[in-house]
Amino acid sequence: MPRSFVQEARRPVGRRRDRIRPIIERLAEEHADAKIALEFGNPLELLISVMLSAQTTDVNVNRVTKTLFRKYRRPEDYLAVAREELEQDVYATGFFRQKSKSIQGAAHVLLHEFGGEVPHTVDELLRLPGVARKTANVVAAELGNPQGIVVDTHVRRLSQRLGLTRQEDPVKIERDLVKLVPRADWGRFPHLLIWHGRRICDARRPLCEACVVADLCPAARVWTGLPPGGTIEAPPTPRRGR
Ligand code: SF4
Repeated sequence: MPRSFVQEARRPVGRRRDRIRPIIERLAEEHADAKIALEFGNPLELLISVMLSAQTTDVNVNRVTKTLFRKYRRPEDYLAVAREELEQDVYATGFFRQKSKSIQGAAHVLLHEFGGEVPHTVDELLRLPGVARKTANVVAAELGNPQGIVVDTHVRRLSQRLGLTRQEDPVKIERDLVKLVPRADWGRFPHLLIWHGRRICDARRPLCEACVVADLCPAARVWTGLPPGGTIEAPPTPRRGR
């Protein structure tokens, strides 16, 4: 079980329903450039990139797919090579055996059940071998059809610190978030938390003093060391143009 951040959310700062809108608005202003970091040119490349991104960095995936996508353009191409060849081609992303097996399995189902096209719904995406809920959510959201909220390590940590959930399990966290976050924001919400997590709300050393949602965050006290009853100042003016 990864480290929990639920206990850090100690300071009462109001109802979740009242805080969610300003949290989204401020983070959207602060991280106007927040978007998926994987590079892809079509739905198939998106699917393969997300499948390869398990247990590695987006930068590493982009480095591999730059070459990979010149060689493999259609589902048929992934099936036209021996498993060992594909393993070599995705080796640098780690877990290359399992990933190659999943990619070829997914390519097979795409061809035989979806006419060679990547489906747009989570339920259909989940029928592809090696595609779990997180991958399906990411792909559906990027294809303009978010049907849930992607919960990765950053989304989990920030949702817990911001007091939006007290759950530990990603599926249960997602269940809390979809009840809270307006549907129109399901696609961008994870990106906002991911980018805020990378830039400000680090797991070990969050920069609460520089955080635009500090006054809305029940975990801020832990890091700012305010005395009991102390208040957190209104957030600094959001930084723009980053
Ligand atoms: S940086 Fe601090 S105040 Fe901001 S979300 Fe993280 S824990 Fe809360």
